[in-house]
Amino acid sequence: MKEFFEKSGVFYRENEPLSKHTSFRIGGPARWYAEPDSAGQLAALLAALREKGVRHTVMGNGSNLLASDAGFGGVVIAIGSRMSGISVEGCRIRAEAGALLSRVAHTAMEHGLTGLEFAHGIPGSLGGGVFMNAGAYGGELKDVVRQVEYLDEELRPCTLRGEDAGFVYRSSLFKARRGTIILAAELALQQGDRETIAQTMRELAGRRREKQPLEYPSAGSTFKRPEGDYAARLIEVCGLKGLRVGGAEVSQKHAGFVINRGGATCADVLALCRQIEETVWQRCGVRLEREVELLGGGAAEDGAGTL
Ligand SMILES: Cc1cc2nc3c(=O)[nH]c(=O)nc-3n(C[C@H](O)[C@H](O)[C@H](O)COP(=O)(O)OP(=O)(O)OC[C@H]3O[C@@H](n4cnc5c(N)ncnc54)[C@H](O)[C@@H]3O)c2cc1C
Repeated sequence: MKEFFEKSGVFYRENEPLSKHTSFRIGGPARWYAEPDSAGQLAALLAALREKGVRHTVMGNGSNLLASDAGFGGVVIAIGSRMSGISVEGCRIRAEAGALLSRVAHTAMEHGLTGLEFAHGIPGSLGGGVFMNAGAYGGELKDVVRQVEYLDEELRPCTLRGEDAGFVYRSSLFKARRGTIILAAELALQQGDRETIAQTMRELAGRRREKQPLEYPSAGSTFKRPEGDYAARLIEVCGLKGLRVGGAEVSQKHAGFVINRGGATCADVLALCRQIEETVWQRCGVRLEREVELLGGGAAEDGAGTL
């Protein structure tokens, strides 16, 4: 791979700790970590990986990921700041997948465009947000995404209308299908009052600070909302607030968050999640489903021979 990286000019690192790139601050080394700066570089990288039989995984800003302690034996492709252009035309915003949701929402505010205030405090990229259909405070990306540009499994650039993107609670066609990589999205917003938009964003940020343990590394809500209830409420009634495994803890401030109190490993978080899931099932009869995604940790994290 080194030869490809040197020749192609794709930014890369060897044996890069994933803990540096995840909001949990957890994760062993990626054998290779790459940040393409364009769809062209990304497609060339994917073609080379295919030719060499090297496996890969994709990440955005790492805010919904729990990376394995063993790291990842192939190539971690991060769609990040090198692919984060934003442009505005009338009430439409087009942003590349690596643009942070906070920046896209801020740009909308600066242009007096309303509809994206809910996303301002979500610490992910637009690509990760579209993939997960990220949402908060009654808004979801599905409400504003008009079009998504992506590379399909055959590395062809494609576009899909928002209404065809299979958005449901915390999922999309991209998540269901895997193998596709989101390049950019166009959002349709409405004209609004800049000061009112800024005020709403400040209020929502205040609510986050008050309710969420933002002072500790985490990946946000660990579990999805079960039908008709809240994971945090169930975890709290089971008396699990403050439960610890190693450096991982059920937040005292918000039971829906597992936090890294310092030195937590992926194994700690997984063991804690299993305890939570088992207790909530035994006492409340509800099966919690994880929202946080695992990166790596497959059968063989020892790397492929062709690297
Ligand atoms: C403090 C905190 C608060 C949070 N609050 C919220 C909230 O209110 N609402 C909410 O919905 N989430 C919340 N989250 C979770 C997280 O921020 C969102 O899920 C976000 O959308 C993840 O984006 P990301 O770029 O970080 O994706 P990552 O965590 O990097 O990746 C998540 C998944 O998306 C895939 N992916 C990322 N980019 C692409 C791409 N370009 N193409 C294809 N696949 C891609 C990855 O392969 C992975 O499977 C919170 C997290 C934290 C730490």
